[in-house]
Amino acid sequence: MIHRLSPWLLAALLVGLVLGGNSGEARPLQVVATFSILQDFVQQVGGEAVAVQALVPLGADPHTWEPSPRDAVLLAKADLVVANGAGFDDWLLPLVQGAVRPGVPVILLAEEGMSLLAGGHGNHGHEHAADPHLWLSVANAVAYVERIADVLRELRPEQEAYFAQRSGDYTTRLWALDEKLEKELGRIPAENRVIVTYHNAFSYLAERYGFSVAEFLVENPEAEPNPRELGRLVGLLQSLGRPVVFTEPQLTSGTRYMQTLAREAGAQVFTLYSDSLTAEVPTYIDMMEHNLQVLLEALQ
Ligand SMILES: [Zn+2]
Repeated sequence: MIHRLSPWLLAALLVGLVLGGNSGEARPLQVVATFSILQDFVQQVGGEAVAVQALVPLGADPHTWEPSPRDAVLLAKADLVVANGAGFDDWLLPLVQGAVRPGVPVILLAEEGMSLLAGGHGNHGHEHAADPHLWLSVANAVAYVERIADVLRELRPEQEAYFAQRSGDYTTRLWALDEKLEKELGRIPAENRVIVTYHNAFSYLAERYGFSVAEFLVENPEAEPNPRELGRLVGLLQSLGRPVVFTEPQLTSGTRYMQTLAREAGAQVFTLYSDSLTAEVPTYIDMMEHNLQVLLEALQ
C-alpha cells in the first residue's frame, strides 16, 4: 500500500536536493501564503523582493481545501510561510512538519496579538469558536500587513528601507479605504443594517462598520443546513424592512441554498467576497471596494 504522505515527502526531498547548494542573497524571498488575500498582502509589502504564491487557488474555498503534492513542493521551497490560523487554514499544520525546512518561520496572523470575536464559525453548541475572518475589518488588515512587514525585515534586514516604504504606502491606502467604508456605509439607515449570509465571515466587518450579522445557517461551509434553520431564516427575513441575503462566490453549495432561501422569503440576492480573491476582485482593496458598493446597493 502506498502511504498517503509519500508523494509530499518525496517532493520535499527532491526540492531540498535541488536547493541544497543555492544560497544566493539576491534571489527573491520565496513566500508561501495559504490563500490569495494573504498573498496580496505579502506582495504589496514585499514587491520585487518576494516571490509569493498561494496554496488555495483563486475562487476556491480555503476552509475545505485539501492539500496536494504541489503544496508540499511549494512549502519545501519557502523561506517564509504565512497563514491565517484561528482554525481557518488548519489543513496547513500537518504539512508544515514534513515539508517546511527547519528554521523557516510559519506565521499565523490571526493568532499574533489580535483579539478574536467569538461565534464565527461557531453556532449551536460551538459558541466559543472564534471567527477567523479578521481581515474583513480593514483595521485588522493593517495589523496583518504590519506583522508581515516585520517578518520580511527580520529575514532581509538589508532591504528594511524598501519594505518600510512599501508597507507605509500600502497602509496609508488601507486607512483611506477604512475611512471611506466608515463614511459611505454610515449612510445606510439603521433599520437596514443586517447582513444575512451563509457562513458567518462578517463579524469583524459588522463590528467595525456598524452592522449586525443575522443568524447564520451552518457552522462551517462544509455543513448542510437543515429545514429548521431554513424556516427560522425565512421568518427573520420576512420581519426585515428590506429582505436581502448575501452569497459568497467560493461557496457553491451555499449559493444554491441561499437562492432557495431568498425565493421562499421574497428576498433579493447579492454577492459579497470574503475568503478568496478572483479575476473580478484581484486585490484586497478591490474586494473591499466591491463589498462596499454591494452593501450600498443592497441596503441603502
Ligand atoms: Zn470563511
